[in-house]
Amino acid sequence: MAYTVEAGNIHDSQAFPALFAKLEPFSPEFIIADSGYKTPSIAKFLLEKGITPVFPYTRPRGKRGFLRPRDFVYDEHFDCYLCPENQVLTYRTTTREGYREYKSNPEICKTCPLLAICTESRQHQKVVVRHIWKDALEICEDIRHQSGMMERYQHRKETIERLFGTAKEYHNLRYTREKGKSKMEDKVGLTLACLNIKKLVKMMVGKTCYFIQIPQYYWIMGELSVNIKKDKHQKRCLSSF
Ligand code: SF4
Repeated sequence: MAYTVEAGNIHDSQAFPALFAKLEPFSPEFIIADSGYKTPSIAKFLLEKGITPVFPYTRPRGKRGFLRPRDFVYDEHFDCYLCPENQVLTYRTTTREGYREYKSNPEICKTCPLLAICTESRQHQKVVVRHIWKDALEICEDIRHQSGMMERYQHRKETIERLFGTAKEYHNLRYTREKGKSKMEDKVGLTLACLNIKKLVKMMVGKTCYFIQIPQYYWIMGELSVNIKKDKHQKRCLSSF
């Protein structure tokens, strides 16, 4: 349906606007994307457009052996966080990157039995950050738990991911053989056209095909936006999502 070619140092989320611009004319109702696209800004953007984002489960980040972000509960009413010791982390500032910072009281933390697994800060102060559009991401988490969403995501994995594998293994897309973005765009375009022809042949003989367009729903394939980057042998290569 659509693809973009980006440099290897461009993150999925940064490549999203260009890819979405190509998909928007199809008026998608659902966008099923992998974890690279699971960011607060993309979630907010899609929800505002009336498109239902379906993202996968992502493991909570944090240092092993330390308290996890989910151990700190956000209180929407008072706009603060509560730590496992029931102490309040109050809002202090918002960073340029759009993260709101909530900080604990170092005088209380100093004597806390959980200090060793809570923070490594020399000032004994715990800082929890929350993106200004985190609410949109939380809506996406609710969507993920709705009936039918897991099946949709599973369907993407079973169909689209397989095609990415085919493109890499059988159509030489694991490494770039061309120099320059425009040449790679041509190559990727031809490869995807080739995959579509293979699909068409399967459809004509009545076999199951991948790359399915289900009535009303359009499936976004994260990997259609391929990255170009150098590998350790200084060859230019494609990295996938
Ligand atoms: S160190 Fe501070 S923020 Fe962490 S659990 Fe103890 S009181 Fe709460």
